[in-house]
Amino acid sequence: MKYISTRGQAEPCSVTHAILQGIAEDGGLYVPERFPDTQFDWEKLAGYSYAELAQYVLAPFLPEFSEAELADCLKEAYEGPFERACVAPLVQVGDVHFLELFHGRTAAFKDMALSLLPRLLTASIRKEHEQKKIAILTATSGDTGIAALKGFENVPGTDIIVFFPEHGVSPVQKQQMRTAEGDNTHVIGIEGNFDDAQRGVKRMLGDPAFLAEIDRRGYRLTAANSINIGRLLPQVAYYVWAYVRLVASGALLPGEPMNIAVPSGNFGNILAGYYAQRIGVPIKNRICASNRNRILADFFETGVYDARRPLYVTNAPSMDILVSSNLERLLFELAGRNGKSVASWMKDLAYDGCYEVDAALKEALGVRSANAGGADEKQASRSAFIYGGSCDEGDIERAIGDVYRAHGYVMDTHTSAAYNVYRTYVKQTGDTTPVVITATASPYKFAGSVCRALGLPEATDEFLAIDTLAKATGIPVPAGLRGLAERIVRHTAIARPDTMEEAALSGLR
Ligand SMILES: *Cc1c(COP(=O)(O)O)cnc(C)c1O
Repeated sequence: MKYISTRGQAEPCSVTHAILQGIAEDGGLYVPERFPDTQFDWEKLAGYSYAELAQYVLAPFLPEFSEAELADCLKEAYEGPFERACVAPLVQVGDVHFLELFHGRTAAFKDMALSLLPRLLTASIRKEHEQKKIAILTATSGDTGIAALKGFENVPGTDIIVFFPEHGVSPVQKQQMRTAEGDNTHVIGIEGNFDDAQRGVKRMLGDPAFLAEIDRRGYRLTAANSINIGRLLPQVAYYVWAYVRLVASGALLPGEPMNIAVPSGNFGNILAGYYAQRIGVPIKNRICASNRNRILADFFETGVYDARRPLYVTNAPSMDILVSSNLERLLFELAGRNGKSVASWMKDLAYDGCYEVDAALKEALGVRSANAGGADEKQASRSAFIYGGSCDEGDIERAIGDVYRAHGYVMDTHTSAAYNVYRTYVKQTGDTTPVVITATASPYKFAGSVCRALGLPEATDEFLAIDTLAKATGIPVPAGLRGLAERIVRHTAIARPDTMEEAALSGLR
């Protein structure tokens, strides 16, 4: 199994090379050259542990790894670091199922991938006979940075550098990052938004002078954002897991379809769901939820991706994104793997801040044609390849309160965005296929908003809000968030978008 670039110009390579490299030489993203034709015996798989199931799903994508090697990586990643033995519980609440992906060390779903990626990366360093240390550069809207810092903490042969928007993450997220432990961690606040930070990281990864300086210091750069294929693949496993659990619980007969609803930012999570479908998981419809930053919803409605708009800071900050990198991988598949088209759209995006896909791709997306009026709306949203929708901060808080009062279940703000958009989807389409909503963060991670949603007394800060929420709901606070306010701040650096290079280098002695 080789990996190829979405822009068609880079040499096909091994997965270990793709993981080390992060982004392809032509600026594209690595994707598997084909999807394995995995055979699923759903009833038999019900007896597998999470790590065993992940092995079954991931092995064909990772041919360079021996069975024992992959098993070791998966054991270290999923047996221990998660607070639930089953790793990702599927919880039925009323007529929906929440796939709780937030029981890892940082209480958000990024742990699902970032507990495994460092292991895949160190194995790749060995296999590629890489002599240099690896510097991992990451731009984060919050949760990626924390999970990456935790995942790479004191991993030999690596240094991890995280950039986050100084004013675009929650106080809890900021505290988690600034108190990160490990001798190889570097955390830098950016005076700008997430897109500034991500742009800076992409600039560094592609700048020959900067790369030469990194090289001189004995390092090789890679990215831990979901542009790294080693970040994306681990996520495929939990969709298979969710389907196995639905069959095991009797909610579905083997082969019957499920829908998925996903709070989306960089589009990695929902793309992994699409990959799961490609290897044989019966998924009928994919519901992509946005918050007030509804660039993805607009795109799936019109086929025009227009980033020339303000970025709002919302109560679901991990979705406050204008450039959803992983969308490129979906475009590549739906364009019949035509790298030329993808490259030209990405060029338009880089130069004009906007692109419009061609008629064939609009057709593949099921984009509503310009002259289709209201009567066709129901039909159109039913046939859309990705159903995109959005909701605002008020909708997000309202649904958290409603679901808690009706079922005693507490959603975080991101999960609530997906829940909201899913409800709209059902209203518009009447499609009541059993749904899995990915619950991407513990409610404690965004405790201030959740307290407000539940009508609890306003806490003066996020850390007190955690206590308030715990007292009111009785739900245990995740270990990663306990005693957070008292931890020692180890990282205080701040940089401007144009001084990110210096800031990065200052960590790599
Ligand atoms: C990162 C994140 C998202 C968005 O996921 P993508 O894979 O970037 O689409 C949603 N919710 C939470 C809590 C996150 O941390």
